[in-house]
Amino acid sequence: MSKKIIYLDHAATTPVDEVVFQKMKPFFSRQYGNPSGLYALASEAEKALSKARQHVAQFLGCQPAEIYFTSGATESNNLAILGLVKRFRQENPQTKPHLITTSIEHPSVLKVMSALKKEGLAEVTFLKVSEEGIIDAKDVKKYLRPNTILVSVMYANNEIGSIQPVKEIGKIISSNKKESGYPFFHIDAAQAANYLDCSVKKLNCDLLTLSGHKIYGPKGIGALYLKEGTALSPLVYGGGQEQNIRPGTENLAAIVGLAAAVVKLKSPKAKNKQIAKLRDRLIDKTLKLIDEVKVNGNPQKSLPHIANLSFRRVEGESLVFELSDKGIAVSTGSACASKSLKPSPVLTAIGLSPIAAHSSVRFSLGRTTSKAEIDYLLKVLPKVVQRLRTIAGTN
Ligand code: PMP
Repeated sequence: MSKKIIYLDHAATTPVDEVVFQKMKPFFSRQYGNPSGLYALASEAEKALSKARQHVAQFLGCQPAEIYFTSGATESNNLAILGLVKRFRQENPQTKPHLITTSIEHPSVLKVMSALKKEGLAEVTFLKVSEEGIIDAKDVKKYLRPNTILVSVMYANNEIGSIQPVKEIGKIISSNKKESGYPFFHIDAAQAANYLDCSVKKLNCDLLTLSGHKIYGPKGIGALYLKEGTALSPLVYGGGQEQNIRPGTENLAAIVGLAAAVVKLKSPKAKNKQIAKLRDRLIDKTLKLIDEVKVNGNPQKSLPHIANLSFRRVEGESLVFELSDKGIAVSTGSACASKSLKPSPVLTAIGLSPIAAHSSVRFSLGRTTSKAEIDYLLKVLPKVVQRLRTIAGTN
């Protein structure tokens, strides 16, 4: 058993909620049926699957048939982008499609876009963000082309938490839609679902990505909302599960877990205020206690649980290791990129130099984060930063 840690890396992943875990358990043991079967055990599984689909649909305010379960947000994002491009190219072999996205998307969007561009399969526009990490919604309109088939914008960023004007973008796209339905609007809501309204009608989106493990559900499960009539081709072929869009025997325990996690996400407002207060305490006190700290992005226009700070003359990774020694878990950049030596593309996109990007650490709070935990961090942090600056001979 590992000793208790102060976990401030909820943007990387969250622990599975106890209620969620209890709901999942029977599906590993006595309720092992395959939902496709015809006997009682299978129809019980089918019932659980359809109930889970209903819960996710309720959360998004859509029809259950518009929900497709996947292995996570990475797969949902890949399916959304590659599936739309594939379908368009099948139906319009003479036209190269155009896609619009932002320069600070998660790699599961950014790398897909770059690969499509590199392979000559699509034209791609990467929208610039402000210092706050936010795009100008008007840019979406400005860069629309006759062959634009998709605009993919994340709801909120995983490294600095910046919230994009997705409602405004949704309106712009709706009023520029052709009869064919193009361009479609996709939102990666993996980080936002915990804190922001994900009603797809209010957002005016055609596709939306969810991930289980960012919302106190299990890892390896996600969902893609696909509005009825959105033309998408599957990326894998197999049995007829998930309406042939994402075949393969359903990961039922995880699907039940994702649905249970989503059900627990109700009434975000009070929760957001409480967590923002703790996050602001972390930022304000750090700025008072330690010199030469920069807040990345604008916390007041960001998710309430993320604080991304640069500590001048400190190597971010060293700070992460030192804090880990003291029982505190934080990260540099995104979890997916934190083992790479390249500076975070998100931080460089908002104007940080590679050195400043390397001196950045992300603190992300969660449901159980307490004032006492933040105060412990605030006690430890100044000493650790001071020590690292001394070792580096920069003090
Ligand atoms: N999109 C965003 C915004 C994310 O933060 C993440 C996880 N870091 C993903 C997609 C990928 O999610 P998953 O781990 O479920 O594949």
